[in-house]
Amino acid sequence: MSDAGGCSVTDIGSISLDIMDRLDRLAEITETPGYLTRRCYTPEHRAANDLAAEWMRAAGMEVWQDAVGNMMGRYEGKTPGAPAILLGSHLDTVIRAGKYDGGLGVLSAIDCVKSLNERGVRYDNAIEVACFADEEGVRYQSTFLGSRGLAGTFDTGLLDRPDKDGITLAQAMTEFGLDPAKIGEAARKPDEIRCYLEVHIEQGPVLEAEDLSTCAVTAIAGANRMTVSVTGDAGHAGTVPMSARQDALTAASECILAVESAAARHEHAVGTVGQITASPGATNVIPGQAEFSVDFRAADDAVRRQAVDELITAFDAIAEKRGVTLKIDHSHAANGMTCAPELVDTIEAALTDLGQHPFRLPSGAGHDAAALAEITDVGMIFVRCDRGISHSPEESITAEDAIAGATLLLRTVERLGTTNT
Ligand SMILES: [Zn+2]
Repeated sequence: MSDAGGCSVTDIGSISLDIMDRLDRLAEITETPGYLTRRCYTPEHRAANDLAAEWMRAAGMEVWQDAVGNMMGRYEGKTPGAPAILLGSHLDTVIRAGKYDGGLGVLSAIDCVKSLNERGVRYDNAIEVACFADEEGVRYQSTFLGSRGLAGTFDTGLLDRPDKDGITLAQAMTEFGLDPAKIGEAARKPDEIRCYLEVHIEQGPVLEAEDLSTCAVTAIAGANRMTVSVTGDAGHAGTVPMSARQDALTAASECILAVESAAARHEHAVGTVGQITASPGATNVIPGQAEFSVDFRAADDAVRRQAVDELITAFDAIAEKRGVTLKIDHSHAANGMTCAPELVDTIEAALTDLGQHPFRLPSGAGHDAAALAEITDVGMIFVRCDRGISHSPEESITAEDAIAGATLLLRTVERLGTTNT
């Protein structure tokens, strides 16, 4: 199918040359010499915003920083003020980060506009690029300060929260040149945005196993987190017979295996116990107390709720059988987000245009797209990363896959741009 401004080999080449060089340049902006750390509202965030602004201007965009520090660019449509197709990702990183988590989505978006601008292609819709201020939440243990600001769901209750150096979020924003009283001005109206598209590294091993460079994302998983405390009876390891024990740690062990089997029984579900403690914690004492964490996610909210209900029933049965008591503290529950089916279809059609095999995956990790889903349709593209490793200096992608992700975004935008809003 041929639309206005289809991809030629030349266009693909222009994405390729810029994107890896620019990701390297972006990764040089770090708070910690020797490895990449870029938290929100730091001088390094300022430098990253400035560099992105320079690239966006060069790509033909009008540029501004919004009221929560997102660096924004707009490539006007045929009619000024038309709703925008919003593209983007985040510029903040975790501590000891990789170069591609967030940066790849920002650079793909900029290169997409650059390609349209170089060919003089404009659509009825404007194209906007958002370089979000905070997705990782490292500095303030926050969730999506940047994209939630844009979606109008910024939690102002966080403003008094201090970082590890005692600087509150309000102070950090003020030092960055923002006015915390004006946070609401970052909020966009749903009718200003047609949809949101984000390119992101997969952060998982599936694309690599499937031998595919890119795919469409169907959903972002919802999650439950809980802490389970098990109380049994401490006793002498040598004198209490096995039949008379109320061992909190063996009961916890059986519960942990129940987490694993509950996740395995349900489609696109994952369950993890990442923390466990036992006390009193001596080699010759039967543990009287154990505590473990549960992180349970599923692409479908109904599946997740059912699986968690089954899990609690299994925990209770294990506790009764072993004569221990349980206390379950549900610390976190968040619904998942479904990508708009029309956008998933458009991304798959774009994959087919490019001669690629259509494939779709849910995301187990959270992304800015989850915040944007509050105000607009969202679609996401995953790009293969080496062994699924992320949040690590070992995070790695190939130049070919970076080009494939940016090209797929471009092709998706071309398809949307040539269909009516
Ligand atoms: Zn990310």
